[in-house]
Amino acid sequence: MKANLYRFCPQCSQPLVERDLGEQVRRACPDHACGYVHWNNPTPVVAAVVEHEGHLILARNSLWKVPFYALITGFLEASDTSPEAAIAREVEEELGLQAQATNFIGHYSFARQNQIIMAFHVPACGTVSLSEELSDIIRVPPADAKYWPAATGLALRDWLLRQGHQPEEMAIPKLQG
Ligand SMILES: [Zn+2]
Repeated sequence: MKANLYRFCPQCSQPLVERDLGEQVRRACPDHACGYVHWNNPTPVVAAVVEHEGHLILARNSLWKVPFYALITGFLEASDTSPEAAIAREVEEELGLQAQATNFIGHYSFARQNQIIMAFHVPACGTVSLSEELSDIIRVPPADAKYWPAATGLALRDWLLRQGHQPEEMAIPKLQG
């Protein structure tokens, strides 16, 4: 099943239909007076390469069935004043750390989840306190960090390369199912 595939109009509850809107076929409301179109735009997500006391902190999500450690990520909230504010909030919520800076690394597409990921390097201070979303963290010296060749892994790779490291690629694990 495709991500974000709505079946019913969120405005008037009629079943959505496929409608050719010129550039692309979209799922849309059959009632032209309603006019709802499900544009299926990518969802913005923020991600952090967290640096704490000279090490990178990679985190394991509580829902993952395999021991895979990745970047801190989260969705923007309507109350966030910027992507930088959003990732600083996520680092505080998930790790209990205070961001000292938010340095933009780049944006990366995650087509499978229909997301656009904005990645930041976040030097942070404080004492680690994990939220219940995370089951574990590892601390990795930047020179030893490996990357996975997709989405947030590419952000980690790009940051490591800019620091002068030669990161090795690792396999992407199957996280669910
Ligand atoms: Zn409708």
